[in-house]
Amino acid sequence: MQPAFGDWLGANLAARAALTTALEESGGDIRAAFAPRRLFGDYLQEQVAGVLTTGPGSGPGLASVRGEVVRLLPEPRRGVLLGDGRAIEADMVVLATGNMAPQTPECPDPWLYDSRFFVPDPWSADAFEALSPGDPVLLIGAGLTMVDIALKLAAAGGGPMLAISRRGLSPQVHVAGGSWAPFLEDALPASPRRLARLVRAQVEAARTQGVPWQRVFDAARPAVPAVWRAWTTPQKRQFLRHLRTRWDVHRHRMAPRIGAALDALIGGGRLEISAARVRSYRWATQDGADRVEVTLAKRGGGERRFSAAAVINCTGPRRDLGRLATPLLADLRERGLATPDVLGLGLETENGALLDAVRRPSDWLFALGTLTCPSWWEITAVPEINVQIDNLVGELAQAGVPRPSHRLLSPEDFLDLGAGI
Ligand SMILES: Cc1cc2nc3c(=O)[nH]c(=O)nc-3n(C[C@H](O)[C@H](O)[C@H](O)COP(=O)(O)OP(=O)(O)OC[C@H]3O[C@@H](n4cnc5c(N)ncnc54)[C@H](O)[C@@H]3O)c2cc1C
Repeated sequence: MQPAFGDWLGANLAARAALTTALEESGGDIRAAFAPRRLFGDYLQEQVAGVLTTGPGSGPGLASVRGEVVRLLPEPRRGVLLGDGRAIEADMVVLATGNMAPQTPECPDPWLYDSRFFVPDPWSADAFEALSPGDPVLLIGAGLTMVDIALKLAAAGGGPMLAISRRGLSPQVHVAGGSWAPFLEDALPASPRRLARLVRAQVEAARTQGVPWQRVFDAARPAVPAVWRAWTTPQKRQFLRHLRTRWDVHRHRMAPRIGAALDALIGGGRLEISAARVRSYRWATQDGADRVEVTLAKRGGGERRFSAAAVINCTGPRRDLGRLATPLLADLRERGLATPDVLGLGLETENGALLDAVRRPSDWLFALGTLTCPSWWEITAVPEINVQIDNLVGELAQAGVPRPSHRLLSPEDFLDLGAGI
């Protein structure tokens, strides 16, 4: 039996040493600590190493194969074809392709995207190679990706930085302590508006009892997939249009130490977060240096200019994976083996099985993680994906017998990773 992340952290002395600040923030509760992501990577590597075999056909266990899956094998064969031409036969295939690089935002002057000023993927290894300390930078997006990138650039002496988004909202800070009972399960809110009203009322009630509002969102979290599934497509669209941003900034929070570091950047004038959109990009030379002269339309009216050495795409992982033209996804769609959802969030699934073009669940193609967003909505973070994995493993282990019904999320599912990694 492999240890849960929280237990592994507790038993691993070196990891505990790296957790000092996180433990201070969580009041000593290791399961509620925001552990550095690097530690989660170490934990995963250790677990995987324990089950690795030497290669396909070498017996039970996990064989690691390096390559990109570009297609499924032609029927009636089952399995995948890699970009280098190797074929891997399999009884079942689980797509767990995860986060994709951000989508390039709409742009009034597309020349920018072909220039060296634009950084399309802030997570790529060479993203900031062309930047020098002190270079002014425009960050498009104000969510957690922006926070990550702003802190990384600041540590390397970057800035001044201007981060823009439509509303200018940035993630809220996590606060430990208190507890709040689940409140959505008994009567799922019948519309996004009712959800908003209910959450607001609960937050107010929590406030009067001295409980941080963060506990209300934590209590709501396990029921989110059920609420989402109960809504009609127009209601889901309404949520995405009107509530998504506000929901996200409260649900996906920053560790207190990250919030403090961000505040210090803002207070020190190195970072500004503004509600604005780009009106135009113009190539300009300033004091002998090449720059992009950005004209911004401020929310609420007015214009401002910002001269940037780089424009960095911080809009977060691309969501509409079902429409993305990677070879694998294109192959699945062309062969009618997968169906993108109408809201552009991912692929249609039922109990983890891909729905084909006529909405029949596959008996051998499954998906996990962000690809399955249409039937889960909240499926970015590890705790939710853990539950999916449990469900799927249960189903695959019982392949050939009628499918068990879905295990529902419960608050316990969230204990192993605390409030985030
Ligand atoms: C900046 C950032 C911060 C995050 N912080 C947190 C956090 O604090 N807490 C939390 O719970 N979650 C966090 N997340 C979300 C986290 O990424 C996911 O929870 C988790 O990584 C998803 O795991 P996954 O295995 O589904 O996908 P991934 O980790 O994205 O792995 C997918 C893998 O599939 C590979 N792949 C894709 N396509 C193919 C193909 N065709 N052929 C072969 N291989 C392919 C990719 O190369 C990748 O290795 C964060 C995400 C980001 C981007």
